[in-house]
Amino acid sequence: MSERCEAIIIGAGIIGSAIAYELAKAGKSVVVIDKNAIAGAGSTCNSCAIIRTHYSTLDGAALAKSNYPFWEDFSGYLGAAGDEVLATYREVGCLYTCFEENKFGKKLEEIANTIGIPYEVWTPAKARANLPIMHPGHFHPAKAADDPEFASQDGEMRYLLFFPKAGYISDPLLATRNIQSAAERHGATFILGKRVMDVLKDGGRVSGVTLDDGSTLSAPVVVNASGPHSYKINEMAGVADDMNIGTKALRVEVAHVPSPAGFDFEKWGLICSDADIGGYWRPEVGNKILIGSEEPECDPLEWVDPDDYNTEVTEQARLQAMRGAQRFPDMGVPNSVQGIADLYDVSDDWIPIYDRSSLEGFYMAIGTSGNQFKNAPVVGKMMSALIDYCEAGNDHDANPLQFALPNMDYALGMKFCSRNREINRESSFSVVG
Ligand SMILES: Cc1cc2nc3c(=O)[nH]c(=O)nc-3n(C[C@H](O)[C@H](O)[C@H](O)COP(=O)(O)OP(=O)(O)OC[C@H]3O[C@@H](n4cnc5c(N)ncnc54)[C@H](O)[C@@H]3O)c2cc1C
Repeated sequence: MSERCEAIIIGAGIIGSAIAYELAKAGKSVVVIDKNAIAGAGSTCNSCAIIRTHYSTLDGAALAKSNYPFWEDFSGYLGAAGDEVLATYREVGCLYTCFEENKFGKKLEEIANTIGIPYEVWTPAKARANLPIMHPGHFHPAKAADDPEFASQDGEMRYLLFFPKAGYISDPLLATRNIQSAAERHGATFILGKRVMDVLKDGGRVSGVTLDDGSTLSAPVVVNASGPHSYKINEMAGVADDMNIGTKALRVEVAHVPSPAGFDFEKWGLICSDADIGGYWRPEVGNKILIGSEEPECDPLEWVDPDDYNTEVTEQARLQAMRGAQRFPDMGVPNSVQGIADLYDVSDDWIPIYDRSSLEGFYMAIGTSGNQFKNAPVVGKMMSALIDYCEAGNDHDANPLQFALPNMDYALGMKFCSRNREINRESSFSVVG
């Protein structure tokens, strides 16, 4: 088989599917290829899918804010029929723990004030009033499980920030399949269960891909949206050495722990970016508390081969649950903690790469660093605009596209997400972005 289309997207995760949706809406013939049998079954399916607007950089926060209305009205974003079963967005609000080492969240307040992100300052008493099972103690820094100082407390937090415009998507895989359906309604084709083995070139330009059944697919535009495999696809394309920012796969775990007895955390729980305990948490279906990590210094980072890693949870999930138990003292930590293990596609500064490459026609939407599920709708639009800009002969490297973010008055200079940027020192260098 050798077929031709206008654009190939490698990866049918939330990012690749959202790009396909926009390219198809723009009238392009687009084919998405994924080695999995279902769209969204890569790292997206285990995403905590928290939708929040606080980021450590102004551009990062603006990108997140721009996406927010698309989750509030997911059906409208998709143009879905009334009877389609859609992933649901639950707005519950997000806390941010403030303490000396994160400069009491002042930078986030400045960013929020600059671009009009609503937030409130909560005293520990107010936090307790809103979430009675929460203990607003100050535990920073996070410690290893065998540290004799584990759970030692230094008074209470002075205050917390509360961002009311935040929530989560109950089912990130369904959300991806919803976007796939929207893309298909506009003519996109998804080839699932086939692996891209090579990226083809002709005359200094990308020309297509080879699949694991030996077939080839030709296109003048190929987009790498392969998540944690991004560096492998870039190596196939021969563009990895022409980038200042690299990506690699980080193995992470998320613990799913039952809420304290008698409290309906699923109904009344909030989200929290809780660097004070070195993690984050949110409500989960089945009245559970889902507890992730914010990569505290004492935890070694586990860089892995995305084709060969341990998919079972380990003692790390239990450690995260123990840290969560500092915040929820009535929450028991089971001997065998349930949860998931999956991968982030981490860039050198934990800020994504949405860019062209040194190979004409080959683009990348990668390095999502555990924090870009929420940004997929606008990333789709931005990548579509970037492809048009470059294919029209503009020099994006010299004159980066200024992308007008939807739903707000803000032009995002795409140098922010360039593969050739300098490391962005404003980043948190963690999943917070
Ligand atoms: C545990 C966890 C928690 C997270 N929590 C949040 C959160 O709360 N909020 C948030 O905004 N973000 C979060 N993220 C990050 C977010 O989920 C990711 O940024 C996003 O899902 C990445 O989507 P993607 O489409 O780039 O990657 P993926 O979903 O991994 O998709 C890439 C696809 O490429 C395919 N592929 C790879 N190589 C090939 C090949 N050679 N041929 C064919 N197909 C190939 C894979 O099969 C895969 O389906 C989290 C991530 C994880 C893992």
